[in-house]
Amino acid sequence: MIVMGVESSCDETGVGIVRWNGDGTCELLADEVASSVDQHARYGGVVPEVASRAHLEAIVPTMRRALTAAGIGKPDALAVTIGPGLAGALLVGVAAAKAYAAAWDIPFYAVNHLGGHVAVDTLEHGPMPPCVALLVSGGHTHLLHVEDLAKPITELGTTVDDAAGEAFDKVARLLGLGFPGGPALDAAAQHGDRNAIPFPRGMTGPKDARHDFSFSGLKTAVARYVESKERAGENYSVPDIAASFQEAVADVLTMKAVRAARDVGVATLVLGGGATANSRIRSLAEERCAEAGLTLRVPKPRLCTDNGVMIASLGAHVIAGGAAPSLLTVASDPGLSVATSQVFT
Ligand code: ATP
Ligand code: MG
Ligand code: FE
Repeated sequence: MIVMGVESSCDETGVGIVRWNGDGTCELLADEVASSVDQHARYGGVVPEVASRAHLEAIVPTMRRALTAAGIGKPDALAVTIGPGLAGALLVGVAAAKAYAAAWDIPFYAVNHLGGHVAVDTLEHGPMPPCVALLVSGGHTHLLHVEDLAKPITELGTTVDDAAGEAFDKVARLLGLGFPGGPALDAAAQHGDRNAIPFPRGMTGPKDARHDFSFSGLKTAVARYVESKERAGENYSVPDIAASFQEAVADVLTMKAVRAARDVGVATLVLGGGATANSRIRSLAEERCAEAGLTLRVPKPRLCTDNGVMIASLGAHVIAGGAAPSLLTVASDPGLSVATSQVFT
């Protein structure tokens, strides 16, 4: 069975094609991504209308490139991200997927973007055992309990305000490092002292929800720190701020992820989302998983950011799990909860 996955929830137009191996894994046949990230740089963040227009221009050529790369005329089934994501952006991928599925007369599956971030790891690291997944990107920060990729996923926690990647982007902007700020901030942090400034660890108090996150207080703390230094006419070190901020984010994310894995009794932690490219999040996750006796699985960076392969992989899992195809009338859902890895109407 060959499955095509279409992704358009944010600023990446992704079309991936995989072959289901029948053992809980897939083989990659095509991975085509067109990103509009450069068009958003001057605004300092993803502009939904700009992203939607870019998807419109990119979707058909990206689809064609994927078919050529895979050397096929059409897949056996088509999966598409139905949510969560930007409303106008989602519409483009969903409309295209429905049109192609109808024209090709193949089954169509509307799947949850978040489950895709977990499913994609099966391409590199084998079938997925019950796990906790930590997803961190510009748009999401989630702790998920995944028992079976073909079944609804339980959300253990999420951010109550900013996403972790968004905090990286905002702090990087404040420090004059450009957009997307995550990679630039990570690079600046390499030359700084991560213990220089004790920035707050949000939602780690005894009364806070065990698995939720908050990053807006941290972002404000960085802004206050810079303001106070400027007001006093004192010098401050951008690398030290970057390293200390990054440490605060990585500390909370990895501490809560390991705690969540312990709470639900799984032996595996999976990372996903573009911000898991962060060097400190990776190294601290490795350290803490080793201490806690957990297996850490991290897809390669290309598959951590949004792409079509993750949707194809999740599609293959739900099809193999016996799911009925979605109807062509299914509507995209920008606020889709993670508890539905598959959507019907
Ligand atoms: P979505 O939220 O729908 O997954 P997105 O476009 O917001 O999509 P990705 O494309 O997965 O997210 O990842 C981009 C985010 O990852 C940006 O916020 C970027 O700053 C952040 N990022 C990338 N590399 C790093 C890094 N080395 N350190 C920290 N953050 C990073
Ligand atoms: Mg992106
Ligand atoms: Fe994503």
